[in-house]
Amino acid sequence: MPETAGNFLLHQVHNGLAFLQAPLFADTGRIDHAFSTRLGGVSTGYLASLNTAFHVGDADENVLENRRIFFNYFQYDYRTLVSSVQVHGTGIQVFDQTNSGEGAFPAGNRSRCDALVTAVPGVPLTAYSADCQLIYFAYLENKPLVALAHAGWKGTLGNIGGKVIKYLKEHFSVRPERLLIGLGPVVCRSCYLVDKEVAVKFQEAGWSKKPYLERSQATGYYLDLNAINLEQLRRAGVKDHNIAVNCWCTSCSPELFYSYRRDKGSTGRMLGFIALNG
Ligand SMILES: [Zn+2]
Repeated sequence: MPETAGNFLLHQVHNGLAFLQAPLFADTGRIDHAFSTRLGGVSTGYLASLNTAFHVGDADENVLENRRIFFNYFQYDYRTLVSSVQVHGTGIQVFDQTNSGEGAFPAGNRSRCDALVTAVPGVPLTAYSADCQLIYFAYLENKPLVALAHAGWKGTLGNIGGKVIKYLKEHFSVRPERLLIGLGPVVCRSCYLVDKEVAVKFQEAGWSKKPYLERSQATGYYLDLNAINLEQLRRAGVKDHNIAVNCWCTSCSPELFYSYRRDKGSTGRMLGFIALNG
């Protein structure tokens, strides 16, 4: 198997905050990025403690304070972050400084899309997940850009990773072989049993074999979102030495992550962000 470029590493900082970063991105010195954990925030109970999403039953002021704590560490103003309404689709939207703060507060308009792109430095793109995979993109050639995609089973089935790359080729003349990719934490195949209806959709799309899909001893099928997203990115022309692969399961690590599956729907959300710095 070709050599991939490491993975996301856990960083714990003095005030209890902890987050993941991929050296592949961090070492460039030109990209700010991270994936939050549940550690270091002010939310309580089942949302303890760094819940970053408004729609999961938390107090708005807790979410805002958690985002402030998180972005403060990276020296970004949380009031400038950009987020979308994630609809489990494959829609792609480009953002610039005029979108600054879209989605930073509970009220206000947001685009409905699952992939965000920007070529403007200092615009922090964000996406939210608890089991779904966030895919980080960075291109540092003559016209640099970053992107962030949200891939649950529907986005993965829809090849959101491949579609983002096709879009970046057509609209930004990106060469896939020069793209840097990070695959964020996701529910692992052992923790992700799906029913026949979902399994059939993946079989029909050509993902019928291990490691992508496997019939369980009991009932249902194990689905490996990480493996499918990785393969789709490779097929789109990304090189293994430019991919930070994932080694984290959101469901297997309750001390670090919220998990929609494990927590039966009552849980918080982690946040991924990426920005061109400077
Ligand atoms: Zn797991």
